Amino acid sequence: MIILHDLDDVRRCCDDARRAGRTVGLVATMGGFHEGHRSLMRAARAGTDLVVVSLFVNPTQFGSGEDLAGYPRDLDGDAAVAAAEGVDVLFAPTVDGMYPDPPRTTVHVAGLTERLCGTSRGTHFDGVATVVTKLFAIVGPCTAYFGRKDAQQLAVVRRLAIDLNLPVEVVGCPLLRDLDGVALSSRNAYLDPQERRAATVLVRALRRAADAIRAGERDPVAIRDLAAATIATESRVRLDYAEIVDAETIEPVTCVQGSVLLAVAAFVGPARLIDNLAIHATDDQIALDLGVVAEEQSA
Ligand code: AMP
Repeated sequence: MIILHDLDDVRRCCDDARRAGRTVGLVATMGGFHEGHRSLMRAARAGTDLVVVSLFVNPTQFGSGEDLAGYPRDLDGDAAVAAAEGVDVLFAPTVDGMYPDPPRTTVHVAGLTERLCGTSRGTHFDGVATVVTKLFAIVGPCTAYFGRKDAQQLAVVRRLAIDLNLPVEVVGCPLLRDLDGVALSSRNAYLDPQERRAATVLVRALRRAADAIRAGERDPVAIRDLAAATIATESRVRLDYAEIVDAETIEPVTCVQGSVLLAVAAFVGPARLIDNLAIHATDDQIALDLGVVAEEQSA
């Protein structure tokens, strides 16, 4: 594996690969690698010839007062993980390299970014959409792999690729959980043991909602309220939102039909955590997707 910091070096390397008829896969990350990141690297390794993993703590997707300064950073540790997963190129640009001049261009995906995390995180998704577009422009991936843990982000990236006619296939990969059910996240490192135990209330809330759906509940308000009430039982956790939305448009729904998400976000100690239950409902069938436990997946 090579580690590249310079944008032109990465572009050249990917150009060479495509010219030789090889496919290029991209996994965009902010580092602090865990099994969730590793599963995307494995999907890219299995699906494409040249696997590029970008590692960039993108300042433009953090609001003021958010955790940009304290975000976990460990280039050596992350490089060892990426190398072990067979990654070819670890692309770790600097902030000056990515933003040599104050940018005047922003990619804004209207509608999809205005709810859920868009409500409490202001211009977060403009930062995400812009940096992902830049990464697509630099790397030119045939396929890009994103986790369904960040379901709204996945919807935003899919939509910008469609709207801007970008020649990239966006692949959504399973949400990975730890043994206690907590969705893997670099931000889990902020939690002390008590907060960690409290954080399990998010998945417990999603499981209760799933049980209610299995028992026949189809009213989005009732399902959402059940999840919110479960989260409210944990004093260390402050709910940001619990909503049922269309998985593609992130619009609220009036009935559980088609592909919808029960998405939750909550503050646990210093961390803001998100999680979701994906629901695929037809007239006579319902499939519930809470993701997979990391150890079971790699076993
Ligand atoms: P991040 O480094 O947090 O920006 O995440 C980089 C990529 O890893 C994104 O596509 C995330 O959706 C994905 N990811 C993060 N956590 C998980 C998880 N628990 N399961 C699956 N994918 C994840």
